[in-house]
Amino acid sequence: MVYAPIRRFANLRHDCPDISDSMLLNSNNQTEFTGVADVVVAGAGIIGLCYAIHLKNISPHLEINVFEKSSSPTQKIGESTLSSFSRFVSGDIIPHDYFLRLFGLKDGLQFYCVDERGLSVTSEDIGGLDLSFQLDRRMSELFLTMWAQKIGINVYHGVGTDFKVMPEDAFAISANGDKDGVAAPNQEIGTAMNHFTAPQVLLDDASQSLATSVKAKLVCDATGFSRRLTSKFGNRETFKGGWNCDAYWAYFQETDVKTEDRLDHWNYPATKHICFPEGWGWFIKLISWEKSPLSNLMDLISYVIDNAKRNVSARDIPSTTVLSEMFDCPFEFITSIGWAVRNDHKFPDNLEEYGATESERKFTYFKRKYPTLERLMDNSYAILPNYYGKKTYFVRKSMAFQSPVVAGDGWLAIGNSAGFTNPLISPGINAGIGGAFYAAMLTQEIFAAPEESSRAVMKKSANAFQAYHHDFMMPRLNQMNRFWYSMFRDHRLFEAMIPSFWAVGVQEIDHLYGASFVAEDVNWVVGAGTADFQTYSKAVLDVLEPTFDGVAPTEDAVEKVQALSKQLRRRLHDRYPGNKWGCYLRKYDDSLRIVPGKHERDIGGKYTCIQCVGCKYWMHNFSDFCLICGTPK
Ligand SMILES: Cc1cc2nc3c(=O)[nH]c(=O)nc-3n(C[C@H](O)[C@H](O)[C@H](O)COP(=O)(O)OP(=O)(O)OC[C@H]3O[C@@H](n4cnc5c(N)ncnc54)[C@H](O)[C@@H]3O)c2cc1C
Repeated sequence: MVYAPIRRFANLRHDCPDISDSMLLNSNNQTEFTGVADVVVAGAGIIGLCYAIHLKNISPHLEINVFEKSSSPTQKIGESTLSSFSRFVSGDIIPHDYFLRLFGLKDGLQFYCVDERGLSVTSEDIGGLDLSFQLDRRMSELFLTMWAQKIGINVYHGVGTDFKVMPEDAFAISANGDKDGVAAPNQEIGTAMNHFTAPQVLLDDASQSLATSVKAKLVCDATGFSRRLTSKFGNRETFKGGWNCDAYWAYFQETDVKTEDRLDHWNYPATKHICFPEGWGWFIKLISWEKSPLSNLMDLISYVIDNAKRNVSARDIPSTTVLSEMFDCPFEFITSIGWAVRNDHKFPDNLEEYGATESERKFTYFKRKYPTLERLMDNSYAILPNYYGKKTYFVRKSMAFQSPVVAGDGWLAIGNSAGFTNPLISPGINAGIGGAFYAAMLTQEIFAAPEESSRAVMKKSANAFQAYHHDFMMPRLNQMNRFWYSMFRDHRLFEAMIPSFWAVGVQEIDHLYGASFVAEDVNWVVGAGTADFQTYSKAVLDVLEPTFDGVAPTEDAVEKVQALSKQLRRRLHDRYPGNKWGCYLRKYDDSLRIVPGKHERDIGGKYTCIQCVGCKYWMHNFSDFCLICGTPK
């Protein structure tokens, strides 16, 4: 039986019109602020909340406080997710069909490569392996906040965090994680403990209802790009290789998608990428709740969570449309579109003719440069001016970096605070989940250690995390980007390398795509963590990078990369003969050989999506009705 809707937060706002957003959100905590916690997480972004949730799941006795400086969740860039996040959701939180009432459905990745004139188009794809979500980040952070509160984590909005740390030389561990650098405990600063000492946590509470500090045994920096704690241990490190990437983006309404004839399967609910010699662009269609009032959304989310917690079947939860009407929460489909481009190319001198602001000019420049892009945008997408506040176009420059120190005595850093490379293949959230999951596992071990050895366990864990995040994960992700960006320079490279990347990244399909995210997945790093990837991408880069002359690779380089890719695919096919690749790739057979004229995946994949005859959105094949509008399959 589905439980009746309760309008607790809408009523609270009605009865107390002056209540702030953060007070409304904080009223959902189950217990009072005590000024003491086992673990303090700074930042209620997606990665900080996932860390807190996993830690609470594996160590329910720990008191966890999360502090977020914003008064309520707001829009952020970073909408497309992959199997790491989707398996984390089903393993640690809730079955997918509850989640799919709130978020856009996603099945796989589609890539389209245009040449330097922007005319001919080659397409590659992967899908059918798992289902995932296109996130409205206001909704995801709100949902995760309320889920965390439901399982006993206190999340406070409107409370900024700062840290008082010991001098850098005494506190930091080595950048390569193999030296003895964790300082002796200092009883004057930080929480006095007889084992290890966490940085002192200072609170800046806008409502002044909490204290000015909180005592924590261990702290986790999840403050994203602002790097509140990691910045105290060194400036951002950039990667070797000479170039970084900038991103320019905006939000659009799909007007009339007339592209199917030119760009295969454009309508399908995958994340779409258009690749060109300087970089690539993303097209992500998502459900936006931006126009819904916070209190109504909180009631809607409570309703979904309460029903899930009482084991009401996801089948019985009303569709998105009905939920929206029940709680007076308007939703709409919008598309996030942006370009992530290398910063070692030159813009034309007349750039100011392309728009009013730098971000608009650079966005428009790439749109106009490639006729395929321009036609697609002009025919099918209308800009949503000021959709998320004052700005229409957004920019982030020099995206790839990492923090030199990501763990120390009594602390760990996860997500963007530890580093970021590029949105390509969505490592931000998906490799970020691996980092958060591993950090939570280490935190559990640290707290489980007997008192006399807890200091040694902290030290070992900090070194292990530094080695994982700084020395393994981030360099691999950076190598993955260099590899992909090199591939965009020629159709033949693009065709050779994309299926090869699937082969090295996915390895054995049945093994990798389980129901939940588990410890063995931590090293996957969206495919970049495998030994095969390391060897193959290095061999490819050794061929391609020295030949870079602005755009075109030499014929000899193309042939060498084609040969390397073919050998690799043959080797991996021999190793995993059970992989039925034809079910997951539209143009290939089970041995990863291209099949002329093949345009559809073979039957037998794990999932597929079907267009709803009612709302024209998509449903997955295991559902017998559309989760958005309720129309039967
Ligand atoms: C252009 C672009 C496109 C992207 N696209 C994708 C994508 O499609 N898929 C994907 O997986 N990733 C994508 N990413 C990456 C993704 O956005 C991030 O990796 C992800 O948001 C990281 O989450 P986080 O929790 O570490 O940081 P955030 O989500 O930024 O959260 C950090 C939180 O900490 C809070 N905070 C900051 N300072 C303090 C303080 N002092 N005290 C308390 N709170 C504080 C902030 O308000 C924020 O809520 C993209 C990134 C960029 C730049």
